[in-house]
Formats: sequence, structure tokens, C-alpha cells
Amino acid sequence: MKPARFDYVAPTNLDDALSALAAGGGEARALAGGQSLVPMLNFRLGGPATLVDLNAVDELAFVEPTEEGGLRLGAMARQQTLEHDPLVRIRAPLLAEAAPWIAHAQIRSRGTIGGSLAHADPAAELPALLMVLGAQARVARAARGSESGARIERASSLCDLYLGPFFTSLEADEILTEVEIPGLRVGEGTAFAELARRRGDYAIVGVAVRVRLGADGLCEDAAISLINAGPTPCLAEDAAAALLGEVPTPAAIANAAEIASLQCSPAADMHGSVAYRRHLVRVLTNRVLLRARGRARERVV
Ligand SMILES: Cc1cc2nc3c(=O)[nH]c(=O)nc-3n(C[C@H](O)[C@H](O)[C@H](O)COP(=O)(O)OP(=O)(O)OC[C@H]3O[C@@H](n4cnc5c(N)ncnc54)[C@H](O)[C@@H]3O)c2cc1C
Repeated sequence: MKPARFDYVAPTNLDDALSALAAGGGEARALAGGQSLVPMLNFRLGGPATLVDLNAVDELAFVEPTEEGGLRLGAMARQQTLEHDPLVRIRAPLLAEAAPWIAHAQIRSRGTIGGSLAHADPAAELPALLMVLGAQARVARAARGSESGARIERASSLCDLYLGPFFTSLEADEILTEVEIPGLRVGEGTAFAELARRRGDYAIVGVAVRVRLGADGLCEDAAISLINAGPTPCLAEDAAAALLGEVPTPAAIANAAEIASLQCSPAADMHGSVAYRRHLVRVLTNRVLLRARGRARERVV
């Protein structure tokens, strides 16, 4: 099928893009890499009156270091950047480790960071990866009515962004402009694993973790996020909390993995039952926590 008719605008700066979205009165959509939106339009799953193409908005396509040792990723930075940019490898090695699992190389060369976050697929890797790293999203819209200034901006934690499958707290006139990721701290290690039927397929289940160890070997901080184990990307908070203040022995890690598998809420589909997905959450959480613990130990001073 071909999409229904729509108007098309291609602004070259963020303010014009925000104005075009606002002028759409709720019937305009941003077009980023088009890797999810264009197939949806072709299947006539939703028909915006106007497409606001962000591909010429160069100010949204960046990867920059922050003074605190972290990273800022512009919404129009391509997913392939995560795989190849040396700065990402050093400052957010979790993203470089997981990027090859996001779709196929051809899709990563067009698909964007902002598009993946805004699309809110519970099986997507990036929302869960950025959540476990404690990233903050920045969102902008044009001023409405009596508001002064051309642009209104707000920050959102990734947890607050996701309301349901393919459903975010972004309003129709808002653009997600960037995410900021804190730098890796001393004693901190991250790791990722997923099971997919074939390389490039969406995850049946995936897990990303971050642990921080003190000089005494105790776990000072931990975060575990699950991919395709619930209606939204989600943090397994009780599982991570079970590690705090503990030496992350294999038994403590197995306990955290068990909690994650009991408390997640996966759905069954043709690729796996609920029981199978819970099993995968337990096995993968155990595996990546052990790996992250090893990496954290190498960074303890
Ligand atoms: C065959 C195939 C396999 C795939 N496998 C995977 C996979 O394994 N893992 C995975 O994570 N993804 C996968 N994808 C999806 C791919 O990663 C997409 O690139 C991504 O989901 C959407 O990014 P995009 O830049 O293409 O966004 P688009 O398709 O252009 O937009 C997606 C949605 O986000 C909105 N949007 C885009 N940018 C913004 C913004 N800055 N602010 C507000 N709203 C915005 C659009 O309006 C639209 O609603 C796959 C896609 C295909 C076709």
C-alpha cells in the first residue's frame, strides 16, 4: 500500500520545525529516520496531515562531550553513530556494546536516536539502555498563546517519558531534541545482552545493567532495565535495590535476577510465552550482572 496524502515541509532549523508542528494543530508528525514511521504510513496506521521532516535540521545531529564526563546526543544523530564514534565508546561503552543489536546496519544508518526514543517500542534497545544510564531527555515546543519567547523547553527523565506501548508523554507539538547521559563513575561497570531469533530482529528479551562498587567491594549503586519484558521499557527497581550495600556475590546476583524475573510483566507472542520470557529475564540478568561486576572491579581505585 501507499500512504494517504499528506503535506510535507522540510525546515532547516529547530524553531521552524517547532512552528510547523504547532501549525499542524495536532495533525502534524515529525519525520526522523523514517524507519518506523514510513512503514506505518504505508500500512495506513495513522495518517498525519503534515510531515515535518527533521533531516535538514543540522543543529539536532550531534554527539558532544559534557564537562562532567558524560555525553549529549542530538535527536537526529543516527543510531550507527553509537557503534562507530570513539567518544561514545569511551564515555558510554554500554551504547557501543549494544548498538549492533539495534536492527540492521542499513536501518541504523538512517534510524535516529530521537526517533527510537519517541517511537516507544517496548522491544527497542535504546530506551532501556538510556534509562539504565540515568539519561535525561530534553524536549522543546513553540510557545503557545500568551507564553513569551519563541521556544519552551523542558527536561524529562526517560522513566517519565513512557506511558504505554508506543505511547509517550510527548505532546503533538513537541520535539525531543537531545538526551544527556552522565559520565561513568569510578567503580562503575555496565553490560548488555539480548536474545533475538536472528541478528537484526527485535529482542525477544534484553537486559541492560549498571553497577557501581566501592573500594570495599560493596555495591553502592545499581540499575537494571528490561527490554520487551513489559508494556514499556522499565527499570527492575526491586531487583537492583536487592544489590545495594551487598557484596555482589554470585548468590546475591542470582537473587537479584530472580526478583527481576518474578516482577517483570512480559506478554506472550509467537516468539515466546510469558514463562519463557521470565526465564530469559532471569538468565540474562544474571549473566550481565556478572559481566558488569567484572568491569566495575577494573574501575575501582
Ligand atoms: C526491519 C526493521 C527492524 C528493526 N529492528 C529494530 C530493533 O531490533 N531494535 C530497535 O530498537 N529498533 C528496530 N527498528 C526500528 C528502527 O530502530 C527505527 O529507526 C526507530 O524505531 C525509529 O527511528 P527513526 O529515526 O527511523 O524514526 P521515525 O520512523 O522517523 O519516527 C518514529 C516516530 O517517532 C516520532 N519522532 C521521530 N523523531 C522525533 C523527535 N525528535 N521528537 C519527537 N518525535 C519524533 C515520529 O513522529 C514517529 O512517530 C527496526 C526497523 C525495521 C524497519
